[in-house]
Amino acid sequence: MTRKAFVIGHPINHSRSPLIHGDWLSEHQIDGSYTAIDVAPVELPQFFDRLRSGEFAGGNVTIPHKEAVFALCDSVDPLARSIGAVNTLVVDDNRVHGTNTDYLGFLGNLDALAPGWSDNLPQAIVLGAGGAARAVLVALASRGIGTVHLLNRTLPNAQKLVAEIPGPFQTHEMSAFARLAPGAGLVVNTTSIGMHGTRFDDLDLSLLPKTALVTDIVYTPQLTPLLADAQALGLKTVDGLGMLLHQAVPGFEAWFGVRPTVTAALRARIEATLEH
Ligand code: NAP
Repeated sequence: MTRKAFVIGHPINHSRSPLIHGDWLSEHQIDGSYTAIDVAPVELPQFFDRLRSGEFAGGNVTIPHKEAVFALCDSVDPLARSIGAVNTLVVDDNRVHGTNTDYLGFLGNLDALAPGWSDNLPQAIVLGAGGAARAVLVALASRGIGTVHLLNRTLPNAQKLVAEIPGPFQTHEMSAFARLAPGAGLVVNTTSIGMHGTRFDDLDLSLLPKTALVTDIVYTPQLTPLLADAQALGLKTVDGLGMLLHQAVPGFEAWFGVRPTVTAALRARIEATLEH
């Protein structure tokens, strides 16, 4: 029987997930499908009825449904609970199980492109405290980093996040960057700044140690102004596309029974669809 998977969102036509999973389905010659389905918020309960009927093996959830599906899942694992969002659904025996693979995507990307990045790392800076920052904080907390400084335009949003997620976190205004940069071995941008070429005002990357790694989870464009500035200073960088590719691995394995690999060829095919 053809196994079917999906990504639901509203709107959904921007999603690269069908390309990623379609690539793996062909590579492994699996009798399966992965399609983008536009589901409006009011249609979610009805869509979950379809899931429980066994029509799909599972799928991905994207904006604006990552929080709303919590209440509809039959079970949600503790990791997704601590992140506060579900991005992957697995249907088993007419029950819908929710999990979150964004944190594995973040770690998988850095482990692949900057091996050893978290070894003996005393301090890191995370910019932004929105939905995506939650998975990044959970990921960083799992790697024994000394202190993770969370900087956000709206300080109360950062304070709310660290009250909910256990870890070695300290919160600051964005202006603290200049003071904290000389001690930071890693900078992670989780804000939406960088999308479509937007840039930070007053973020002086030259204050970072020369060995610092700068990574951006924004991947449209792939080379954000932040990464371009870091590269111009000779700093090591990792872009956000790999997070998207690596977060897809556990879902594909759960639905289709094969653990796929993030290859350079897959990366190149998805890169070709991004703005530059
Ligand atoms: P979100 O929940 O809307 O959070 C946005 C964050 O950006 C907040 O911290 C917000 O600060 C900050 N921000 C927005 N505009 C700003 C400005 N002009 N100046 C300073 N700070 C600003 O968004 P999200 O869901 O976390 O997503 C953030 C980005 O991550 C998006 O570009 C998304 O595409 C990307 N992403 C990538 C992946 C991947 O797989 N690579 C996965 C998930 C998300 P305030 O709290 O002050 O509003």
